[in-house]
Amino acid sequence: MSTTDRRTLLKSLALAGGAAAAGAAPAAAAREPREPPPAAMGMLYDTTRCIGCKACVFACQQANDLEPDTSPDGLHLAPVDLNGRTKNVIKLYQEGERRSYMKAQCMHCVDPACAGACMLGSLKKDEVTGVVGYDPSYCVGCRYCVMACPFNVPKFEFDRAVPKIVKCELCRHRIQGAVAGRGADGFTRYPDGHGPACCEVCPRQAVVYGRRDELLDEARRRIAEHPGRYYQDRVYGEVEGGGTQVLYLAHVPFAKLGLPELGERGVPHVAYTVQEGIYKGFIAPVALYGVLAAVMLRNRKRPEGGAQKGGPA
Ligand code: SF4
Ligand code: SF4
Ligand code: SF4
Repeated sequence: MSTTDRRTLLKSLALAGGAAAAGAAPAAAAREPREPPPAAMGMLYDTTRCIGCKACVFACQQANDLEPDTSPDGLHLAPVDLNGRTKNVIKLYQEGERRSYMKAQCMHCVDPACAGACMLGSLKKDEVTGVVGYDPSYCVGCRYCVMACPFNVPKFEFDRAVPKIVKCELCRHRIQGAVAGRGADGFTRYPDGHGPACCEVCPRQAVVYGRRDELLDEARRRIAEHPGRYYQDRVYGEVEGGGTQVLYLAHVPFAKLGLPELGERGVPHVAYTVQEGIYKGFIAPVALYGVLAAVMLRNRKRPEGGAQKGGPA
């Protein structure tokens, strides 16, 4: 079994455990693969256009009112990976002469493992846009979503008295209630001009926002226009892990950029199959619910602010 297969299986088992704890034990045969909603919104990131300026990192931090993050060597606003203060990061892959930038944030999976693992519905996929949003008011900090995500996206605020999950929500707070229309560049835009902050500021259109089907068309157009430029003439996210609403075009192997080689089935789909094999309709562990409810109550009683290393005790 390869490392990737093993990692996917472990995540599937974590997810299966979460779903079983929630008492949701549908039969594997009844779990059809999910389709993106008709108005699924997303982003297309193209490594061949990115110059690594990190304007998107700064814009994301501002638009989401996140505290400035620093790199381990003390550089301001230079996070090396996603973390409790960073929803979007630009990384550099370099091997000999070969190099590429890589933008990482939530992939807004068509069948999100995080939402499948969340017992209390804090993480939910919007039925219209497909954006995977987070409502902290139900979150008990169990971190099942952290374990389940095949892209290692959700991060936990370990240094907060009342820690929550941090992840990109496709800037849904900036576009809520607006009606979509097409912009001059052909991509879907909102009349007030607000889309995801990272896409708005990108000086190279290395990351663009739009409907998933339009973005797929655009990706295929770029591949056809530039034969040999893109890795395997492939759009990552079209089918990987059941499909994602954030899509990638790259000039180097996707695995080098940290994108896992997933099958065409979503992690929840795999998980329910595993779960059916393991639990066979096992009754939800009520005691676990009791513990989680106690944690939630305790978290709510704690005052805001104040550092706490190592997460909730
Ligand atoms: S990338 Fe991870 S956090 Fe984002 S929707 Fe998919 S499973 Fe959830
Ligand atoms: S969509 Fe918004 S939250 Fe997500 S990476 Fe872009 S700026 Fe950050
Ligand atoms: S703003 Fe655009 S070009 Fe600059 S780092 Fe982000 S994606 Fe790349």
